[in-house]
Amino acid sequence: MPVTQQERRLSSHAKPQTPSSSTDQRGVSTISVHAGEARQKPVDSITDPVVMASTFTFENTQSIIDFIEQDQKRGEYGRYGTPGEQVVEKKLAALEGAEEGILFSSGMAAFVGLLNAKLNSGDEIIFFDECYHRSREYCRKHLSRFGVVTREVKTGDYDAMEAAINSNTRMLVSESPTNPHLSVIDLQKFADVGKRNNVDTVIDATLATPFNLQPIQAGVDYVMHSATKYLGGHNDLLAGVVLGKKEKLADVRNLRGIMGAINSPHNCYLLERGLKTFSLRMQQHNRNGQAVAEFLDGHPRVEKVYYPGLPSHPGHETAAAQMRGFGGLVTFEVKDADWRATADIVDAANIFRIAPSLGGVESLIEQPLVMSYFTCTPEERKSFGISDNMIRIACGIEDSQDLIADLDQALGQ
Ligand SMILES: *Cc1c(COP(=O)(O)O)cnc(C)c1O
Repeated sequence: MPVTQQERRLSSHAKPQTPSSSTDQRGVSTISVHAGEARQKPVDSITDPVVMASTFTFENTQSIIDFIEQDQKRGEYGRYGTPGEQVVEKKLAALEGAEEGILFSSGMAAFVGLLNAKLNSGDEIIFFDECYHRSREYCRKHLSRFGVVTREVKTGDYDAMEAAINSNTRMLVSESPTNPHLSVIDLQKFADVGKRNNVDTVIDATLATPFNLQPIQAGVDYVMHSATKYLGGHNDLLAGVVLGKKEKLADVRNLRGIMGAINSPHNCYLLERGLKTFSLRMQQHNRNGQAVAEFLDGHPRVEKVYYPGLPSHPGHETAAAQMRGFGGLVTFEVKDADWRATADIVDAANIFRIAPSLGGVESLIEQPLVMSYFTCTPEERKSFGISDNMIRIACGIEDSQDLIADLDQALGQ
């Protein structure tokens, strides 16, 4: 098939489309299954081939010159992109309603790639203080080495964020919902702070996914995801993605080609395959998250539940207005339990597997104190809002009643 024809077909899927209301737009399930893919593929296969090539050949010298001068979209060298990766990037962009998506080898590679491409020595960024601990660590420990100043303000305090902006501020960064506290950011307010001050906004929407949240529609400039989680969905791959306007992402793509933080063809295939069932899986993750949160909320041994789908959650109204569902991640605190008694509950689980991560089909359980913050001082943990009696569960796609029964027996021990 001539490259140009394939390109035309691919680009017809790349225009912004959102999986929301309007009737002439395709739904999120249809986008998950079909977007980004050529209708007729090599050897007439219905699935995309896994092209195991690190390099791509040219017929002769003139074809190299044409490739450069005409900016042809074809393979050159694997570090700059591969055919399978293009399909996944277009599928993810279609799901997000973004012009473009750039795939990275992990969520952290995506985060680091975006920030490194955009920031110079002397620049400043401001981020909400609840976040994935490695993102915070990267900003505090590493960006600082290159003369980038990072400021933290209390999560959800838009006035404090705006007050911290000065002429060097380049980026406002947040998650929504946040990991592991599940605080909800009002995306409109967040995006407005950025626009008023001519500063770009970034949302790590890993916990929400494009199924539940559409930050670009709300005016956010860049969205990133750890595709390791719900997008891949099967606890069998690492990947990350940055999405936004094409022109704003050109330097990010260029830096990725230099960093080499790319996915193998096989990894791209796994991600494409995982995405086929994205919408179905999210519906079950949302159902399980809600059911488990409601169960925990009514349990006598549970002191507090963090889940935006509960009316008692401080961000519930905002979440209900901007989210389609609230995801599978639920954090809770055990009543009158020290860290050991809390660990005993984790250890008593049968269906939930003890592991970090979230968003896969298997339900997971972990105690943040032990899993992610064990080497921190008690003071540091306090400042991050990590309590000794906190448990984080990531509901998979099993049956709700089985997950509830498992937690019930674990809490009963
Ligand atoms: C897991 C996670 C990341 C990091 O993604 P990796 O794919 O593990 O590198 C970043 N942000 C959030 C919110 C996450 O949950």
